[in-house]
Amino acid sequence: MPNWTTDIPQDPRGHALPLLRTPAARPLAAIVTSNDLVGCDTHFWGGHTVPCDADDCDACQHGAAYRWHAYLSAYNPDDQLHFIFECTANAAEAFAKYRVEHGSLRCCSFTAYRWRKTRNGRVIIRCERSGVPPAALPKAPDLTEVMAVIWRLPLPNVFQAGTQRGHPRIHADPDGNGESPDPRDYVKSNP
Ligand SMILES: [Zn+2]
Repeated sequence: MPNWTTDIPQDPRGHALPLLRTPAARPLAAIVTSNDLVGCDTHFWGGHTVPCDADDCDACQHGAAYRWHAYLSAYNPDDQLHFIFECTANAAEAFAKYRVEHGSLRCCSFTAYRWRKTRNGRVIIRCERSGVPPAALPKAPDLTEVMAVIWRLPLPNVFQAGTQRGHPRIHADPDGNGESPDPRDYVKSNP
């Protein structure tokens, strides 16, 4: 017999936001909700983008190429989607410039698009200050915790909370909106 409940189980790892990359065919426009971005070296390994675990990294030990990616949280008022946006270091320079000028990324309205609309075309990002007041935006998540959820990394509070039997697995599509990383950047990771 199933153990029916009327309460929706809360994942002890916290809330998972979808991870989006810049689509090829159309621009992605949203407003940043986090004050800053976080970034780390990643590998394209086993068909997914995974963080480089510097101390004990399987991908590094196999000579996989790595690439730094930036992550920030953003909100699209049109469809009310709060998500994690991923981009490369090159693309993230627009955010770094905005951060210097405005002291924070929160409320930065940005548009990201792919050069020549190709699937792995270089991402270009334009930033401007949005007229949206900070209070109208969703509260920013803890970016490193959200990335830990997406990447299924252990978190201290998960061990405290334990895991709930039968809880639906967290769904995080590592390919975001279906875009794949540029295979030329990951040649070494595809033996
Ligand atoms: Zn590594």
